[in-house]
Amino acid sequence: MAADAEGVAAAGAGSGGLALLGAVPGAPCCPHGPALLFVKTSQGKDEGRRFYACSACRDRKDCKFFQWEDEKVSQTRLAAREEYNGSHQPPCTHRQNVERYKNFVLLPLSKRRFCQECQQLLLPDEWEKHSSHQFLSDISTAQLRSPSQLLYPLENKKTNAQYLFADRSCQFLLDLIISLGFTRVLSVGTPRLHEMIQSKASQEEDFRVRSLLLDIDFRYSQFYTEDEFCHYNMFNHYFFGGEAAHETCRKFLHQEKDERVIMVTDPPFGGLVEALASSFKKLMAMWKDTEKGDNKDREMPTFWIFPYFFESRILEFFPSFSMMDYQVDYDNHALYKHGKTGRRQSPVRIFTNLSPSVIVLPAEEGYRFCAICQRYVSSGNHHCEICNSCTSKDGRRWKHCALCERCVKPSWFHCNKCNCCALESHSCEKTNVGCFVCGKAGHKRSTCPSLNHSGTSLQAGKGRKRRQKTLKTLKRAELGVCKRWAMKYAVFSRRKTKKKKDTTP
Ligand code: SAH
Ligand code: ZN
Ligand code: ZN
Ligand code: ZN
Ligand code: ZN
Repeated sequence: MAADAEGVAAAGAGSGGLALLGAVPGAPCCPHGPALLFVKTSQGKDEGRRFYACSACRDRKDCKFFQWEDEKVSQTRLAAREEYNGSHQPPCTHRQNVERYKNFVLLPLSKRRFCQECQQLLLPDEWEKHSSHQFLSDISTAQLRSPSQLLYPLENKKTNAQYLFADRSCQFLLDLIISLGFTRVLSVGTPRLHEMIQSKASQEEDFRVRSLLLDIDFRYSQFYTEDEFCHYNMFNHYFFGGEAAHETCRKFLHQEKDERVIMVTDPPFGGLVEALASSFKKLMAMWKDTEKGDNKDREMPTFWIFPYFFESRILEFFPSFSMMDYQVDYDNHALYKHGKTGRRQSPVRIFTNLSPSVIVLPAEEGYRFCAICQRYVSSGNHHCEICNSCTSKDGRRWKHCALCERCVKPSWFHCNKCNCCALESHSCEKTNVGCFVCGKAGHKRSTCPSLNHSGTSLQAGKGRKRRQKTLKTLKRAELGVCKRWAMKYAVFSRRKTKKKKDTTP
């Protein structure tokens, strides 16, 4: 933790901007657990002002928690905050929900209702209270096994950004996990993978894989026991269920002789990479702590599912990871899934610390093995003799630029003014276009110094409403890349994207 904090502080200092210091002991809590510490620096000053903000919500509408680190908080305010946090917890405990579920499954089909407005399984004596709400009836066992289909995906809320795997991708992940010999899956923010595993486990006798879901979406506690689901915040490694939930996770990670554990995570793409990385490191440490002897020098096998343009950020925190070419598709996402008219390219990839050579990608979808790179690559990814690697990141065939001494996107040309490759329609550096990431002139996003540090350093807005603005800017930090890039990928068709300025790496 301390090391993280120092790294980020160093990155933020002097440049004038915002940086994440991370989770620190003694941080105040919002309803989403301990807040994260950030620092706001102003130009020329050595030390910035530190403040706490909510770890989970990128929108102040979702959680308005804010506190300067050096702020004196009165007893009255502390008490009010505690009360507020308490009143912003789910109305039912997990235990209560498990009890409700037991009663629910005893009901005949005709009495099994699900309130769509409250996103809740209803027991008959509750019907009255929900009489004006829309509900689904005759909830079958099959429906109970697929809560992700029953529940409304929280996609419009920035906080949750639930994008569910397309069946094909989910099946691919599970097949891969099985073929690699894993029997336990720590599903961090992957409810659909979890439910596919749980569903098979309950139906197929010789299916040996088990899963534990860690997710901030408490609605899932209606469908899973305390051994199957933990209410968890992956931005601050916070278990809402306290020590008992922590222990559940620890136990799950403790592998018996012939049990192998893998962590699979698909965080919201707007998430602060370093906060996620710090939590994953803690989960990995939990796994390590439960190991006896022979695994001491190993890292918990992991699949981190994230867009390809975060590659350098992820590798910064996990140098042992590499990015696979497999394009992860989603159900409820305009562009992250196959369109009717041929393949739309999803920018989402699997990052893993397993050897790339063992991650076999489906030949039916055009992936092939590159013997030189010793990994499976997409059909359009050709091996470049000069780079001596399969260089494409987005699935299209890239071309080598001798002047840049690297492969670049097919749509790029070498610009002599900029001395690098870019879209033909790009505006050259000499026109005063600031860097996309930090806003400063003189360089582009790809060479932005702040991206090469271990912290998220961003130029703070010079606006009046400092507090709000600071936070807003900050929360767009990683999202800045994400919103403009990921969302662009998400919303526009390829034809439209082409016309836009394309500066992804
Ligand atoms: N593709 C996955 C879902 C990924 S969407 C699947 O189909 O299984 C991101 C997931 O992360 C959602 O389930 C969301 O509820 C969860 N999530 C969002 N913010 C979180 C947080 N702070 N802590 C833990 N989980 C979070
Ligand atoms: Zn919060
Ligand atoms: Zn190759
Ligand atoms: Zn090349
Ligand atoms: Zn140029």
